[in-house]
Amino acid sequence: MSASIGSSGPGMKLHTKILLGLALGAAAGITTNLTIGPTHPAVTVVNDYLAYPVGQIFLRMLFMVVMPLVFASISLGVAGLGDIRKVGRVGGKAVGYFMATTVLAATLGLIVVNTLRPWERISPETREELMTRFAGDASGRVEAAATSEFGVQTLVNIVPRNPVQAAANTDLLGIIFFGLAFGAALTLLPAERARPMIDVLEALNDVVIQIIHFAMILAPFGVAALIFGVASRFGFDLLVAIAAYVVTVLLALVLHVGLTLSTVIRFFIGMSPVRFISRVKAALITAFSTSSSSATLPTALDVAETQLGVPRRIAGFVLPIGSTMCMNGTAIFEGITVIFVAKIFNVDLTVPQMAIVMVMSVITAIGAAGVPGGSIPLLVGIMTMFGVPGEGIAIVLGVDRILDMSRTTVNVCSDLTAATWVAKSEGAWSPAQVPAQAD
Ligand code: ASP
Repeated sequence: MSASIGSSGPGMKLHTKILLGLALGAAAGITTNLTIGPTHPAVTVVNDYLAYPVGQIFLRMLFMVVMPLVFASISLGVAGLGDIRKVGRVGGKAVGYFMATTVLAATLGLIVVNTLRPWERISPETREELMTRFAGDASGRVEAAATSEFGVQTLVNIVPRNPVQAAANTDLLGIIFFGLAFGAALTLLPAERARPMIDVLEALNDVVIQIIHFAMILAPFGVAALIFGVASRFGFDLLVAIAAYVVTVLLALVLHVGLTLSTVIRFFIGMSPVRFISRVKAALITAFSTSSSSATLPTALDVAETQLGVPRRIAGFVLPIGSTMCMNGTAIFEGITVIFVAKIFNVDLTVPQMAIVMVMSVITAIGAAGVPGGSIPLLVGIMTMFGVPGEGIAIVLGVDRILDMSRTTVNVCSDLTAATWVAKSEGAWSPAQVPAQAD
């Protein structure tokens, strides 16, 4: 029903414009950083009065609709599935996929970091400089981490006391739980009693998608502004200083897509991975530029339906849960970062401790919010578990934006793989249903 978010009528495709915004913003930012420098008053003015507001307004337009969207699509997803036992099976498959791929991702990250050993390439002076540069920022994050607990309470917290408060606090898992309960209850009502509520939810969903179309008009400018802000402040020096660590994370992310996800796409979904990725590229570019699985959810839902032909009732159920639970890229990033920072602080981890890092990376990747930097407070939590000073996070903060952009892209790619695989295994989709178009 809804027009494709990835296209904008005649002329240049929207995702081409977004990519252009990304390239122009990055080029302008790096040039500024290298020529007049990040602290020049003109750069500060451009950042504070142009790049910051434009970037933030774009992000906020997307965030504004995430809560109603998640609630409406989860309840409709469950209600649409009709039979409560079927919900259990589809949900079970989705959660099984999330767990299995996240465990594989975290394990791969640990193998890659222990093979490349990036800590051996970092000079003590560089460590010192980064620590000084980000000390203030790091302590803020450390405090945030102190309030996040693991264990039984994490499970209890999934059930919100008050769904309105959960929405106000952007507690996505709480809203998902409420949406699941709401949808499940709808399936148990007689059809004529459930119908008015389903109509309201469908209308809510359509309105929200329309608001996203408004936001997407801003996307090329928002993306350019966000990138300019990062590139002009940090330039290349920071990336170069800890290039070994960055390369390790990026390589592991690429390997995960090239090995694990491609295997699922080719053998379990039955599509060529290149074709699959080319079909979902609008969602991947949105993930890369927003660093947020949640902000990408609307685009992901749109491409699943219009570019892959996955039925809405499956995509509308799997993708919202996936956007907060399925974070393959985040698990890779967390495992590598904990080991890397531990080594920088001379904390030697034994093999069983590495296994615990793996398990914690999986749990925190599931628990992290799909927002920019959502996993950082949880990451500091794991570091302190192993006696690594929480301030060690200062080392990674400088490059977190680029890593966040990259891991979020992998997170979203895995969400879309999950939705397509679940639809296929339910007999609700086959590769023949991919809408025809020039790839
Ligand atoms: N930004 C990530 C996402 O939204 C979460 C994280 O790893 O910080 O998927």
